[in-house]
Amino acid sequence: MDCLFCKIVEGKIPAKKLYEDEQVVAFHDINPQAPVHFLVIPKKHIATLQDVTEADRALLGHMLFIGQQLAVEQGCNQGFRTVFNCNEHGGQTVYHIHLHVLGKRQLSWPPG
Ligand code: 5GP
Repeated sequence: MDCLFCKIVEGKIPAKKLYEDEQVVAFHDINPQAPVHFLVIPKKHIATLQDVTEADRALLGHMLFIGQQLAVEQGCNQGFRTVFNCNEHGGQTVYHIHLHVLGKRQLSWPPG
């Protein structure tokens, strides 16, 4: 399977990693949209949020938990945003699910 984020998990493509455990990897986004912008991805390949199953419940919770832990560690003490872009209308460009965590600037709403 030709998946960019699977290659990051496997260490075949370099990434600035913030965290790794048996289930997830977190790394800085290559094109940051805020002073803090990192991604939390599962090691398991799941293409979109529409493809998760009951078996992925705990994994999704773990991704969010690690995201908030790292956001605090990265100094986002005034808040931060977590985003899953899902599929075409959601604006997803890499088809391996990832939680965006953005912070350290005032973010606006609604997104485009
Ligand atoms: P999406 O649009 O799918 O929600 O977000 C994909 C994100 O992955 C984008 O923010 C993009 O900048 C980031 N990205 C794409 N390719 C790479 C890469 O090779 N390395 C890293 N660290 N981030 C990437």
